[in-house]
Amino acid sequence: MAGMKSNSIFLTFDTDWLKDDYLQRTIDLLVEFDVKATFFATNESPLLQSLDPAQFEIGLHPNFNKAGRELDLDALHRLKALFPQAVGTRSHTLLFGSRLLSSCHATGMLYESNIYLHKHLNLHPVPRTKEMISIPFNWSDDKHIELERPFELGELPTLDNPGLNVFNFHPVHIFLNTDVYQRYENAKVHFNQPEMTQFINSGTGMRSLFVALLQTVRSSSLSTLLMRECLNENID
Ligand SMILES: [Zn+2]
Repeated sequence: MAGMKSNSIFLTFDTDWLKDDYLQRTIDLLVEFDVKATFFATNESPLLQSLDPAQFEIGLHPNFNKAGRELDLDALHRLKALFPQAVGTRSHTLLFGSRLLSSCHATGMLYESNIYLHKHLNLHPVPRTKEMISIPFNWSDDKHIELERPFELGELPTLDNPGLNVFNFHPVHIFLNTDVYQRYENAKVHFNQPEMTQFINSGTGMRSLFVALLQTVRSSSLSTLLMRECLNENID
C-alpha cells in the first residue's frame, strides 16, 4: 500500500476485564520499551484513561454476546461513553458482521479489527464501507497457546515482511506468563483475585515471548504504530 511504511508493527491488546493492578504490568513493559500500543477496552479503567494518547490508543472491545438471539448493542454505547476518544473497535470473541457495521459507524468508529488471518503476510487495511476500514491482524497469543507453539521469536510473523504486522495480546496472558491453556483455566477460577498471582508461570511463556518481541523491535529500530494511524493512509 502506498505510503504505509514497511516493517511497521502494531501492538494491540484486548483487555478482557483484567483489573488495572494487573493490566499495569503490560503497560510498564510498553513504557519501558517506549513503543506505541492500542488497547481495546472492555470496561471502565482509570489506568487506560491516564495514559499518554500519543503513545497509547484506546479502542473498544464490546461483548455483543447475549443469551438468546439478540446482540447486546448497548455494550458498544456503554464503552463509547467511557472512552469517547475511541475511533476503532474489535469485538470480544471477534463477533462481527454487516449488521454491526452501521452501529459501529454510528457510534463514531472509523475502523474495525475483527478479521484474524494467522501468520498471514502482506496484510493491508481495506475499505469495509464508504466510511470504515478493516484492519486485519495476523498473530494472536491465544491462538499461539491453543496451537501449543514454542515461545520463540521464529514462531511470530516475519517482522520484515512488507505488509502490516498486527499482533494481538491479552494482558492476562502477559500477567500469567501463560505457557499452557490449563494454567489460564486454573487461574480464571480466581479471576482478578489475589489468588490469581499464585498461577504466574516462572518459566518460558507469553510474557517472555512478549519481552523478546519488544527487545527485537528495539534492537532492530522497527517502528510501532497506533491502529488509528492506518486512517491517514490512502486506500485504493
Ligand atoms: Zn476479548
